[in-house]
Amino acid sequence: MIIDCHTHLNNYHDEQVYGLQEALQNLTVSLRRNRIDQALVLTSYKINPGRPSTADVVDATKDIGELHVVAGVSVDKTSPDDIEELRGFLTNRSICGLKIYQGYQPFFPTDSVMLPVVGLAEEFDVPLMIHTGDTYSPQGKLKYSHPLNIDELAVDHPDLKIIICHMGNPWIRDTMEVVYKNKNVYTDISGLVLGNFSDRFEGFMHKQIQEMIIYGVEPDKVLYGTDWPLATMESYVEFMEELRIPPRDKQKIMYLNSARLFKLDIGELSGKRHLGLW
Ligand SMILES: [Zn+2]
Repeated sequence: MIIDCHTHLNNYHDEQVYGLQEALQNLTVSLRRNRIDQALVLTSYKINPGRPSTADVVDATKDIGELHVVAGVSVDKTSPDDIEELRGFLTNRSICGLKIYQGYQPFFPTDSVMLPVVGLAEEFDVPLMIHTGDTYSPQGKLKYSHPLNIDELAVDHPDLKIIICHMGNPWIRDTMEVVYKNKNVYTDISGLVLGNFSDRFEGFMHKQIQEMIIYGVEPDKVLYGTDWPLATMESYVEFMEELRIPPRDKQKIMYLNSARLFKLDIGELSGKRHLGLW
């Protein structure tokens, strides 16, 4: 079984405008081709024609049992009304996590403006995913996206479950330490490449993940994700097939950790329609 904890229905190519339904179609085709059982769809901090709102993504995916939504929260969308909307989604399990985009937006995760979002994650016991490391856009500001910023948030909120996205790449060593030190911090391996891994980069990243585990990051704290459509699912599946770690550890990374953290049903897809495509 495979759960991809990090995909998007965003259209990153402005010249080639397609809508939510087409993006959803592309996602389900890619999941089926690569035999991915379930995926989390992360919404953006922006809403525009290429980046659908959380409400629209929740609506478009509500009957698809294989897909789950994580709500992206913008730093300027934390008013009581915004928080109420998120609370509604969390209450009826329309979303299973929250995501903030430090770096893409200039704030530190400990900024008091984010406290209502942190509070929701704690109250509903859902993971807070945090963008870290390189920003796809040159407009991003790296001092905000450094993984070391997560340590203070983790210490001050011991019950908050935090996922450092992208292993904080290229600050993987710093991520290792923050994940190792704080029992409430996890990391996903998504977004390490744009498109496909080259052989050399694949070897380099295999070594980083192996080192992370040797250093003491438990395999229980590493999650499989791709950042599709920025990275291809084909390349990521191959990357994991060729990663030399014990099979039990790989199983944890590929789906057990995501199922546990996001409380996903990996038995029967209760209530929701199974696409029956894969
Ligand atoms: Zn992403």
